[in-house]
Amino acid sequence: MKIAVLPGDGIGPEIVAQAVKVLDALRREGLNIELEQAPIGGAGYDAAGDPLPQTTLDLARAADAVLLGAVGGPQYDQLDRPLRPERGLLRIRKELNLFANLRPALLYPELASASTLKPEVVAGLDIMIVRELTGDIYFGQPRGIEMRGGERVGFNTMVYAESEVRRVAKVAFDISMKRGRKLCSVEKANVLECSELWKEVVIEVGRQYPEVELSHMYVDNAAMQLVRNPKQFDVIVTGNIFGDILSDEASMLSGSIGMLPSASLDLRNKGMYEPIHGSAPDIAGRDVANPLATMLSLGMMFRYTFADAAIADRIDGAVKRVIAQGLRTADIWTQGCERVSCSAMGDAVVGALG
Ligand code: NAD
Repeated sequence: MKIAVLPGDGIGPEIVAQAVKVLDALRREGLNIELEQAPIGGAGYDAAGDPLPQTTLDLARAADAVLLGAVGGPQYDQLDRPLRPERGLLRIRKELNLFANLRPALLYPELASASTLKPEVVAGLDIMIVRELTGDIYFGQPRGIEMRGGERVGFNTMVYAESEVRRVAKVAFDISMKRGRKLCSVEKANVLECSELWKEVVIEVGRQYPEVELSHMYVDNAAMQLVRNPKQFDVIVTGNIFGDILSDEASMLSGSIGMLPSASLDLRNKGMYEPIHGSAPDIAGRDVANPLATMLSLGMMFRYTFADAAIADRIDGAVKRVIAQGLRTADIWTQGCERVSCSAMGDAVVGALG
């Protein structure tokens, strides 16, 4: 298992170091894991004048999976756009053709009070959102701002080829088979032709998965249902722009940004795994960041790229256990719990691996 480790900026190196402790523990058990580290984002710019240095991209291409911390920081905000840290991230996703973005929104019962919704609505929440990541209105042509009839007009194009819908739908059905066998496809087929095709293709793909209960929902209704009764969902599959909005909405149901992992996969299940949060420059270098989203991202790596559910379950289980033991980093701490540092949380997860 070749893993490219890209810590990035801000808290990135601190949180990734905790996940590497888990990998080291697995290596000591005899697992054949090769790790190689490279700079990305601001660190890439500092090292090579490029947020995605060629050597980093080569390493990521050669690896089976990529573990990423986070990128960005105020010291890079004045750089020209192509040199900004976030560009490195967009480029690596595109270069590796990571078209399927998996964002679980899950909430441990012990953390239910962190949500802005009532505990009974969100306790035990466990949704997987599969978002198409390389198509849709974000990439469609033509696009631009131009003068028409004496005023400026802005325009973008929502476009999906059926092959793009088919491959992401297949990923979502495969995941549904490993979970609750319930998939909801979200679009706006009552208004948009692009969505009409999306729905047709998802139904076609669904014929190969008769065990999965497929439903369809318009995006406006889905946005409402996610806060009304989020536990009705198991897996959601949707396009790039709808997924962008819904996955942020769903992640906030859990209230704690430091707990949420993500994966972005290519056609062969090679993936890049990263927490959904940013580089948190406000707390960087103080050993207080929450490393659990990164740990859970590592769990996803074993589940989806290495197809090793046993190790994935051990990592997820270890995170559950440290939460149940009452250990909390500052961001999720509440009265009566034990406040621990980022590195102590990392050690606790290693200790709880079982
Ligand atoms: P952020 O996610 O970095 O931080 C938002 C808030 O959440 C901050 O108060 C921060 O301290 C806290 N937080 C985030 N992760 C945490 C963790 N693991 N433990 C404890 N607290 C945590 O978002 P931001 O402040 O809007 O952005 C900061 C920088 O990160 C910017 O440069 C932005 O461009 C970048 N960013 C990067 C990514 C990424 O690498 N994927 C994503 C979002 C933002």
